[in-house]
Amino acid sequence: MHNIGVLGCGYVGLVTGACLAELGKRVICSDTDAPKIQSLHDGALPFYEPGLLELVLRNQHSGRLAFSTSVASAVSESDIVFIAVGTPMTGDGRTDLTHVYEAAIGIAHALNGPKIVVNKSTVPVQTGDVVAGLIEEHAPSAHEVCVVSNPEFLREGSAIADFMKPDRIILGVADSAAEHVMRDLYAPLRAPILVTDVKTAEMIKYTANAFLATKISFINEIAGICERVGADIADVIAGAGSDQRIGMSYMQPGLGFGGSCLPKDVLALQRMAEEVDIAPRVLSAVLAVNHKQVEMLLDLVGDVVGPLCGKRIGLLGLSFKPNTDDLRHSPAVAVANGLASSGVLVVAHDPAARPKAGSGLDQRIILASDTYEAANDAHGLIVATDWNEYKQIDFTMLKKLMAEPVLFDARNLYDPRKVRAAGLTYVKIGMRLDRLPSAMPLK
Ligand code: NAD
Repeated sequence: MHNIGVLGCGYVGLVTGACLAELGKRVICSDTDAPKIQSLHDGALPFYEPGLLELVLRNQHSGRLAFSTSVASAVSESDIVFIAVGTPMTGDGRTDLTHVYEAAIGIAHALNGPKIVVNKSTVPVQTGDVVAGLIEEHAPSAHEVCVVSNPEFLREGSAIADFMKPDRIILGVADSAAEHVMRDLYAPLRAPILVTDVKTAEMIKYTANAFLATKISFINEIAGICERVGADIADVIAGAGSDQRIGMSYMQPGLGFGGSCLPKDVLALQRMAEEVDIAPRVLSAVLAVNHKQVEMLLDLVGDVVGPLCGKRIGLLGLSFKPNTDDLRHSPAVAVANGLASSGVLVVAHDPAARPKAGSGLDQRIILASDTYEAANDAHGLIVATDWNEYKQIDFTMLKKLMAEPVLFDARNLYDPRKVRAAGLTYVKIGMRLDRLPSAMPLK
């Protein structure tokens, strides 16, 4: 029976630790953030992820899952150590590997026997070699260490299901004994396993995220063309996406991609390409289209609502996507901040996100306790995140509550006919102003 150590109790580390404990392994999750570990000891999650609290509590009570601020104990008591620390973006778009290197050095200092070190953090190609080198350099005595790349593909909001039922598991591993241990570890998931070298595994993760981002920017561009030529984007997606080679996932037009992964990973891949003298034209276009989506919405709000300063706008959704409280690189936050800096009183609602100081949300933004409080007296209501609870709002109630009944559908959620039937003006990203009903007074 292998004991597992997990370094980093964020979305990936905590889900990995809890799921492996659920599969019967003994797991110690460690994090350098003491309040995070304290909240886990107190039986609370440091972030919102559906189903995770129950999984954590069940496995804590069974004695299979423990938490510690001591990286050393997570390493010394385990023979497989996962690195699941954050790899944020640097100012110039590269990957900040500080936490990965600290984790590698922490592993080295606590090394007390042979280990398999499994890197789950998303890291640029060749980081596996650097991690192996750091461990060798800093270990007080020599022990056999095999560094494996095992990129993670879970999505916040469905992280447990994604971990437990992955489409595939990627193992970048050169050593056949370590490959055997890792295959054994994941055997209960009954998922296809692709074994590659370490660099290829690292590259697979960037390729997957860059492709998903490309689909989003592509469909946003197509949505803009549809709007101009008078085609229906929903039917275009249904028609084109029914082709198995294309598919419908990641084909929803809207505010573009955000979150802690796609923006930073596309940019990091762009930088990686530039470092080997390749000008990545597709990646540059993907980022440029994405950047424009928020700007287009802000321009549209200004065009429809009139001079923004002093207006009140309701905003539904702050998280970068539904079913998570993650605000990192959230397009909804960019919209909220953009409006606030133009002098708009923004009243925002989100079912899960509870923005704290330092979360990047402008301090002037007021938080509402529900949809209708956000809409009350507003000169416009923007639906910025496609949470389920926003899919069936009461348009008649909005019409009664709002100072100007204008609904900005930034996630393509509504049937314009139903919105208009309730007496609201319906606007979506890319919409030409001459296509607004004449009833809408342009200011
Ligand atoms: P996160 O920011 O939620 O959590 C990272 C945790 O690591 C933090 O709690 C931090 O305190 C801790 N940490 C930092 N240095 C440490 C150290 N030396 N020892 C122990 N703990 C340390 O990050 P995340 O969203 O879980 O992402 C982790 C990695 O997985 C990133 O590389 C990310 O790109 C990748 N990834 C994320 C997702 C996702 O949806 N969030 C999906 C796939 C891959």
